[in-house]
Amino acid sequence: MSAQLRSVMPAVPPSAGVAAPTPFKVYTQRDLERIEALSRLTPEQRFEMKVVSSVLPFRVNQYVIDELIDWKNVPDDPMFQLTFPQRGMLAPEHYDRIAELVRSGAGKEEMERAVGAVRHELNPHPADQMALNMPRDEHGNRLEGMQHKYRETVLFFPSQGQTCHSYCTFCFRWAQFVGDKELRIAASEAETLHAYLRQHTEVTDLLFTGGDPMVMKTRHLRDYLEPMLAPEYDHIQTIRIGTKALTFWPHRFLDAEDADDLIRLLERMVDGGKHVAIMAHYNHWKELDTDVARAAIRRVRATGAVIRAQGPLIAHINDDPAVWARLWRDEVKLGIVPYYMFVERDTGARNYFEVPLVRAWEIYREAMQQVSGLARTARGPSMSASPGKVEVQGVTEIGGEKVFVLRFIQGRNPEWVQRPFFAKFDPEATWFDDLEPAFGEEKWFWEDEYAAIREEKLGQAA
Ligand SMILES: *Cc1c(COP(=O)(O)O)cnc(C)c1O
Ligand code: SF4
Repeated sequence: MSAQLRSVMPAVPPSAGVAAPTPFKVYTQRDLERIEALSRLTPEQRFEMKVVSSVLPFRVNQYVIDELIDWKNVPDDPMFQLTFPQRGMLAPEHYDRIAELVRSGAGKEEMERAVGAVRHELNPHPADQMALNMPRDEHGNRLEGMQHKYRETVLFFPSQGQTCHSYCTFCFRWAQFVGDKELRIAASEAETLHAYLRQHTEVTDLLFTGGDPMVMKTRHLRDYLEPMLAPEYDHIQTIRIGTKALTFWPHRFLDAEDADDLIRLLERMVDGGKHVAIMAHYNHWKELDTDVARAAIRRVRATGAVIRAQGPLIAHINDDPAVWARLWRDEVKLGIVPYYMFVERDTGARNYFEVPLVRAWEIYREAMQQVSGLARTARGPSMSASPGKVEVQGVTEIGGEKVFVLRFIQGRNPEWVQRPFFAKFDPEATWFDDLEPAFGEEKWFWEDEYAAIREEKLGQAA
């Protein structure tokens, strides 16, 4: 949009009409007892939360408590499941081990040892992210806080953006929120990023991720973003910002302290010729169903940024075609483009959240059948596995054998993309690693090449 057009259109609508910023009030594990709404639960339920949140990250804010959760419907309410720890999120033996220590008032050191051991059994770093995706500079040094897995897109993890306004119980990045430095992916240096991008002209998309980059002060975000407007970054067409702030803290875009600056920054990036894509994480239509959320969406869209929606399919939260159909419909109505339906990764509380691949595909298909073409832009169900993003296209029978039809949406080698391949049907499979090639074949068509890539990267790491 031109500056002239903008001057006649209310491109920056007045913020929510509130004089003082709405204060951000947040609770963590230590504050569980202080959350008034929890007083309606039984002491047993509150104890369970305490145990589970000793292992898995917990953080929730007042907006989520007051506006998103339907407390009459607790514990089944999907927004409650999205943010509050549940007993089933830990395996019974892990739960019992930690519960015993909490009950007996174990010392800090003993507790930390036990908690650390449980966390390490929860596959804290799925899909080899550290070893295989971290790029290197020309001297072979690892560039912390970046991932460059697919040719066109660089992921950047700004250090100030490695937390979220609330935590999702199923978060696949949970490990970095529990304070284990080894497990943390973060960069503090804008210059490292900028230097890398100047050299890598094959990159068209820069994706800021976290945590949630929208927890950063606008001025930090500006330091990363604005330099991209210089001519040496013309190859960077798209700036994507992954965020769940439109759900967890829509005030960030309305009346937070530096919200107006953020809106102006997004506008400047758009005016400077970049496609700005807010990659909004949504799991349920309830997240779109508050006045504040809708106002934030309107305000972001008025900058010229596009909001695209993505999120995983999660048992207890959205494993229902009707929920997805309404989510996609409501998104389209609000001008949001549905982009991805993910399969929950094999980490953390996966046993509680996972959905069999065959069921995931049925939910995707049944939801697609209920919506118009404009809501059928979501790809999936997609697994972010180490070789690439693998989509379950369907289940069929070929030559008498029941198979999953798969394709790469993204691959470490772009040549793998869009080639159908087949896995033996398995009604219990929940993740790519559970699958085997169909038709008695010994390996996947891409397997040797992948092994070579992997070996090369691990060799560099050694
Ligand atoms: C999903 C993903 C991307 C982006 O892929 P698109 O299909 O372009 O959205 C980039 N890097 C990594 C590591 C990813 O997982
Ligand atoms: S918003 Fe994203 S990074 Fe933050 S807790 Fe949820 S899933 Fe994890």
